Amino acid sequence: DYELGEADPEVRGIIDKEKKRQFRSLELIASENFTSRAVMEAVGSCLTNKYSEGLPGKRYYGGNEYIDELETLCQERALAAFNLDGKQWGVNVQPLSGSPANFEVYTAVLSPHDRIMGLDLPHGGHLSHGFMTPKRRVSGTSIYFESMPYRLDESSGLVDYDMLEKTASLFRPKLIIAGASAYPRDFDYPRMRKIADAVGAFLVMDMAHISGLVAATVVANPFEYCDIVTTTTHKSLRGPRGGMIFFKKDPVLGVDLEAAINNAVFPGLQGGPHNHTIGGLAVCLKHAKSPDFKAYQNKVVSNCRALASRLMELGYKLVSGGTDNHLVLVDLRPLGLDGARVEKILDMASITLNKNSVAGDKSALVPGGIRIGSPAMTTRGFSEKEFVAVADLINEGVQITLEAKNLVSGSKLQDFMKLVTSPEFPLIEKVLNLQRRVE
Ligand code: PLP
Repeated sequence: DYELGEADPEVRGIIDKEKKRQFRSLELIASENFTSRAVMEAVGSCLTNKYSEGLPGKRYYGGNEYIDELETLCQERALAAFNLDGKQWGVNVQPLSGSPANFEVYTAVLSPHDRIMGLDLPHGGHLSHGFMTPKRRVSGTSIYFESMPYRLDESSGLVDYDMLEKTASLFRPKLIIAGASAYPRDFDYPRMRKIADAVGAFLVMDMAHISGLVAATVVANPFEYCDIVTTTTHKSLRGPRGGMIFFKKDPVLGVDLEAAINNAVFPGLQGGPHNHTIGGLAVCLKHAKSPDFKAYQNKVVSNCRALASRLMELGYKLVSGGTDNHLVLVDLRPLGLDGARVEKILDMASITLNKNSVAGDKSALVPGGIRIGSPAMTTRGFSEKEFVAVADLINEGVQITLEAKNLVSGSKLQDFMKLVTSPEFPLIEKVLNLQRRVE
């Protein structure tokens, strides 16, 4: 029984390098966070050794008395974290991650080729909400179900609910999914409920990005209006990498959601639950009830607002003109830039964020925006003052990108990448300066 460093110095070395990278950089990817030591201890524990197909009290393997205790505790804490009454709501804490959780919901309540509507990926939605291109059905959701996306109103940057209503009345989906990966505003759940009711559709919310904010009640509460709520557990909620599905206990549209969803998870799509993750999740959900967690989530939002205000002061165009949550989406197209180039330069300076489509983009490979999130650096102790400084550093990176772009004739993305990764990159000193300031 060796320590990792002794048993496998190679993997130990890679983990050490990754840890250094995580702590060296300004981590601004909106879907990432730093989970706690306590969560990591549970995730790295002997819980990973156990098979426990089934649910507490109804397992296909022996030796599950403590795993039953753990999963039941995790379920109770999940309901408590979102202030749910266990008579009205149930939860499955076994989904391996967000995408499987969503697919499990679809297979629970739909038949193959039933119709769904989710926010289009280039407008901020997630792949698992039914993304397809004119040439290809990209995600499993669009392969096995018929998908018709709804979109943003490009002038306001807000979900176009009128268009959603009109399209739904023609397309007649059986399921409408709210939630997004790059939407800086709240969803209008009452409006979506009305639209779903008018066509007899299930209303699902994928709160993956904002579940920490929902638990802390700093954004609108999807549970008041939706039939099913899915989430990842590793984003703003700050837990281990996993997923959960919440469902109403009373039948909806004649479907017993509890039975349908539990069966879709196992045996439908999964085998043995990842008990180490469920252990880590239970730890995270206990923390989610603390005043400390609520204060953290409030800071996530106020820090993001400070970042947004400074970026706008510097002249940047933000999709929807600001933010109500943990992320901002910067539209770089007015500068003649794209997100891919800016992401590359900032990465060289240890500022980690991601290129992102903005509504109206011509190419998904060279999208016109960057997405910036506040959860991770708020965990690291940043407040508004530091987020104003973050906006200034990003601005410096954008200016370097503009200069670099001018050095490349035609400035095709490939030429650009070649230039900035070559040792002779003429702006390297500026990037190094930026990097020194980040570190
Ligand atoms: N749902 C939303 C809204 C997401 O943003 C993501 C991931 O970023 C997922 C689902 C998928 O989660 P996972 O990567 O854990 O499958």
